[in-house]
Amino acid sequence: MTESVFGVIGNPVEHSLSPAMHNAAFGELDTEARYHAFWVENVGPAVEGATALGFGGLNVTIPHKLAVMEHCESLSDDAEVIGAVNTLQFDDGNVFGHNTDAEGARRALLAEIDDLGGARTAVIGAGGAARAIVTALAREGCQITVMNRTVARAAELAALARSLGAGADYESLDEKGTVGNFDLVVNATSVGMGTDESLLDREDLRGASYVFDAVYRPVRTRLLQEAEAAGAKPIDGVGMLVHQGAESLRVWTGKEPPLEVMERAVRGELE
Ligand code: NAP
Repeated sequence: MTESVFGVIGNPVEHSLSPAMHNAAFGELDTEARYHAFWVENVGPAVEGATALGFGGLNVTIPHKLAVMEHCESLSDDAEVIGAVNTLQFDDGNVFGHNTDAEGARRALLAEIDDLGGARTAVIGAGGAARAIVTALAREGCQITVMNRTVARAAELAALARSLGAGADYESLDEKGTVGNFDLVVNATSVGMGTDESLLDREDLRGASYVFDAVYRPVRTRLLQEAEAAGAKPIDGVGMLVHQGAESLRVWTGKEPPLEVMERAVRGELE
């Protein structure tokens, strides 16, 4: 076999959009490579096996993004800051851990919003996606207010944003009615994933300029429908998904990712 093997390890992983996205990219780049989804229970042996088999690279998803860190020889700055790894690079038997979610979020937002500098942003959620998005917003010089159901996690994430030089504070989710006072509102919770639910309604959102939903299944979530009704510009989660994948591809191949082809493949699977 001469083609390089890439893939995503996780569980569940059968509904992953990454194989469609990356195989479309490899086809466009005319690269002898295939990308597969691997259902993995124990992350350590999987990483060892992939290294031994000469895999080109791996993405890592739920529930292994934290546990895989101890199997990496070194971590990128973003993986250190976010505290999770979503991309493994193999080099001469060594494993390097990266996290491309922050750069993915940054590029996706800048594709829709000309200038984020100084924007007042409300981020709902404080899990992995929120950590990546807050890192991106902090780098762009946004003012950040984190709101989360578990307030202690909101406080922790606001502290992370301050450590990156951003002005940041936090609120309980009880304050969600104030999000209309912000330029950009971000849903980084899992609410709305595969359901018709939204934590925010159009009255909450009235006054906001942009609403970004990290949830991408469905593409047009209830939150984004409410955002449009409130007069805000909706930004769906597909852009972040595509850009984080593109950044992984850049790590593995050093090539310029074919963004349009990747996005078409993802939207084709979802719509
Ligand atoms: P996570 O680490 O498990 O965090 C989940 C977050 O959602 C926490 O802040 C949690 O609050 C909050 N939450 C869950 N149920 C809630 C409810 N009923 N009411 C209020 N808050 C609730 O998950 P994650 O990895 O951050 O992922 C979050 C979402 O982003 C998922 O839907 C995922 O698919 C999506 N995502 C998208 C991209 C992309 O590229 N577009 C990338 C990564 C993730 P507590 O802290 O109080 O539990």
